[in-house]
Amino acid sequence: MPSAPQSPDRKAVLISGAGIAGPTLAFWLRAAGFQPTLIERAPELRTGGYVIDFWGLGYDIAERMGLIKEINRVGYRAQELRIVDDRGQRVTGFGTRVFSELTAERYVTLRRSDLSRLLFEKIRGTAEVLFDSEIVGLQQQPDGVRVRLRHGGERRFDLVIGADGLHSAVRGLAFGPQREFEKHLGYVVAAFEVAGYRPRDEDVYLMYGQPGRMLGRFTLHDDRTLFLFVFAAEGDTLPGTLDLQKSMLRKTYGEGKWECPQVLQRLEETDELYFDRVSQIRMESWSQGRVALAGDAAVCVSLLAGQGSALAMISAYVLAGELGSAGGRHEAAFGNYEARLRNYITAKQQGAERFASAFAPRTAGGLWFRNQVIRAFAIPGVARFAIGRDIADTLQLPDYRWPQLQELSSGAQALA
Ligand SMILES: Cc1cc2nc3c(=O)[nH]c(=O)nc-3n(C[C@H](O)[C@H](O)[C@H](O)COP(=O)(O)OP(=O)(O)OC[C@H]3O[C@@H](n4cnc5c(N)ncnc54)[C@H](O)[C@@H]3O)c2cc1C
Repeated sequence: MPSAPQSPDRKAVLISGAGIAGPTLAFWLRAAGFQPTLIERAPELRTGGYVIDFWGLGYDIAERMGLIKEINRVGYRAQELRIVDDRGQRVTGFGTRVFSELTAERYVTLRRSDLSRLLFEKIRGTAEVLFDSEIVGLQQQPDGVRVRLRHGGERRFDLVIGADGLHSAVRGLAFGPQREFEKHLGYVVAAFEVAGYRPRDEDVYLMYGQPGRMLGRFTLHDDRTLFLFVFAAEGDTLPGTLDLQKSMLRKTYGEGKWECPQVLQRLEETDELYFDRVSQIRMESWSQGRVALAGDAAVCVSLLAGQGSALAMISAYVLAGELGSAGGRHEAAFGNYEARLRNYITAKQQGAERFASAFAPRTAGGLWFRNQVIRAFAIPGVARFAIGRDIADTLQLPDYRWPQLQELSSGAQALA
């Protein structure tokens, strides 16, 4: 990808990570008049992975970026969450239309990688992008940050933002080791996709649970199917290689019924397995001098919140807006960024933690109780009441001034 033209009077901001928060931040920083550079460790945008539910303020930000039509085109409108037993018979479930109703039809399920790609498309040609590289050293100076890159070479930026996810390297370099900030919620998550799997159940999330483990299946476009595993696991050490990860899944689900045997069989053919701890990141401060964090790197809520992508986008949007409003005075901007979001994020993290045991209850009694609660969702009004509280956003998106937004939206390639 060609570099965007450099301009001496714009503040240069290096953003580590081209997932969800990174491209969103690059877009809004560009709209605010900054000069962002994105650096991504992977050689290209990551594909595969898992699907996410997307609504609320994240959806609003995507709309402001002109992405809604495309998001809805590639997305799914799930109709039902169905819990099944050993033989695949429906135990309970509920119609997921309630999500759409509660959000005035502004609710969509899509692949995380599709959202990332669409966000990235919005900055193509307007920001410098460095793939297959990463920051390996940071040195803060009074007037900037000197950055050392993996393949050698040093560069200077006015600010550096870590948007490099749960295992953020920028956080490690500027704030300290991950263990100081990570709260492991006691589960491991894995996901993979295959082609040609049967049966297919369009627009239905299927979930099969045994004490301490659940297996989910979701039918995707183009004859593809996504599988999601969430299982209880204590300890911080995860198997480090694909073979060991597969072996852990075989051990955990080996005696599982329903479709466990055939899913484990299909697992053998994949070399793109998402595998990680279910954790949150909790930090007392999201900035340190000229370095700040956004998205999961700063505020990971975990998959149990069902809103991490939206929060990644919200944090990016607010960070860019505050930097723009403060005319680049980073201390003030970073302070306002935290002040606006801190309580909102804390509430989301607490909600996700409470929900953890409902996702994969650890005992047979817990499973039974969870299913009774879901059964109650069939009673008119109950689902609306129970879900309404969690789905509502208590934050209002600030309206910032975006001096360059017009040009970005009209697809101007070179703004400098
Ligand atoms: C199974 C699962 C289900 C989920 N479901 C939902 C859901 O329903 N709804 C929802 O909103 N959210 C959901 N989430 C959460 C959501 O995916 C994350 O919160 C979101 O992706 C965070 O975005 P991010 O940009 O901060 O980090 P990421 O998306 O993790 O992106 C980080 C980027 O940084 C790159 N990177 C990593 N290290 C470096 C480095 N050293 N240097 C440079 N680049 C680096 C990575 O390659 C990646 O591209 C789910 C998560 C999981 C695991």
